[in-house]
Amino acid sequence: MKIEKACSNCGVPFWVARTNVWRDNGTIYSRMLPQHRMVFMESDNLDGLFSNLEIIVDRPIKDLIIEAKSKATREYLRPLLRRRRGRLVQLIGYRRMARYVASMAALMGYGQIELLDFSPKFGRADRMTIRVRNIYSLLMFCGDIKGAAEAAGRPNSLRQASVDYLIEKANQYQVTVFVSGKAVQEPEEREPLTYVNKPGDFQLERCPQCGTPTEVANYRWDLALGTINDPRTGRRMAIFGPATIDRTFEELEKQLGIELDDVIVEAQRRYIHTALTEEESRLDKESIRLQLAVRGLGNLTEMEPGEKGSINLRIENPCLAPILIGLMLGGYEIATHRRARAFWKIEEDGDLRLTIEPQEN
Ligand SMILES: [Zn+2]
Repeated sequence: MKIEKACSNCGVPFWVARTNVWRDNGTIYSRMLPQHRMVFMESDNLDGLFSNLEIIVDRPIKDLIIEAKSKATREYLRPLLRRRRGRLVQLIGYRRMARYVASMAALMGYGQIELLDFSPKFGRADRMTIRVRNIYSLLMFCGDIKGAAEAAGRPNSLRQASVDYLIEKANQYQVTVFVSGKAVQEPEEREPLTYVNKPGDFQLERCPQCGTPTEVANYRWDLALGTINDPRTGRRMAIFGPATIDRTFEELEKQLGIELDDVIVEAQRRYIHTALTEEESRLDKESIRLQLAVRGLGNLTEMEPGEKGSINLRIENPCLAPILIGLMLGGYEIATHRRARAFWKIEEDGDLRLTIEPQEN
């Protein structure tokens, strides 16, 4: 299972180029599961966003986020595991399976993941301890592990898992997942979240050998550390599916009983003020279009000045819309040194229409 080999022309790991396709319409899709959209995004963004969300809603939400993410992961994994549950593990064994998962996680920029200990019972682990270093988002990871442990149960006898983490030192945690005897409901089969996928004509410059956009080759994969870095900004990147993030927000909305879109826009706006440089905020339309397309966030087709310093944008095939809006809003404020507001709407054809206008005072 040599999946670490890099393209000799651009240096991007082949596995990344083989498993993801950057389309000409501002989207990234998984090649193995073509209905699954992906994003390639700043990973610090996630925990930064969650911390701000917690401050804005003014109550602890870390456990809710882990719970919501685990539910999204369980729903996603359950149909995949129902038929093949255990067979892969039986075939190649827990430790090898764990090493394979860890290699893939490193390629996606999730950090270093090492299986420390597990106690198998009835052919599967009831308790598993994992050491993680440089994890892309501790909360997302805890949710994933809990959801995966729950999804691995026998049909109609799924059991609840709980997850706990311990800080060993800076950037290093021990995460333990326990599978308890408590029954958990078989997740209802829901249609996977799909996103609008309009054709586009964005001619991305690509590596002739592996087909990855050449802009992606500016990022540095460190497979030993499990990180993807942008040497220009020092920021960490990760490749992940937006659907489980959207499901996590949906679930969080249910738990908190409030609409979260505007709250997420605000949390993201605040985060962007801590992350984006003034130089980056001053990009022209074509550069912003490229940056959004490389991240798979959509296709910027219009960006026109409006009245009184406002700006009108249209983004086709948007995903993670509130995060995207918070990004554009924060970027506008940094570039103009003015507080602004965002007015937005998802139109019938799925396009995001966004107006950002400076506030009067
Ligand atoms: Zn290449």
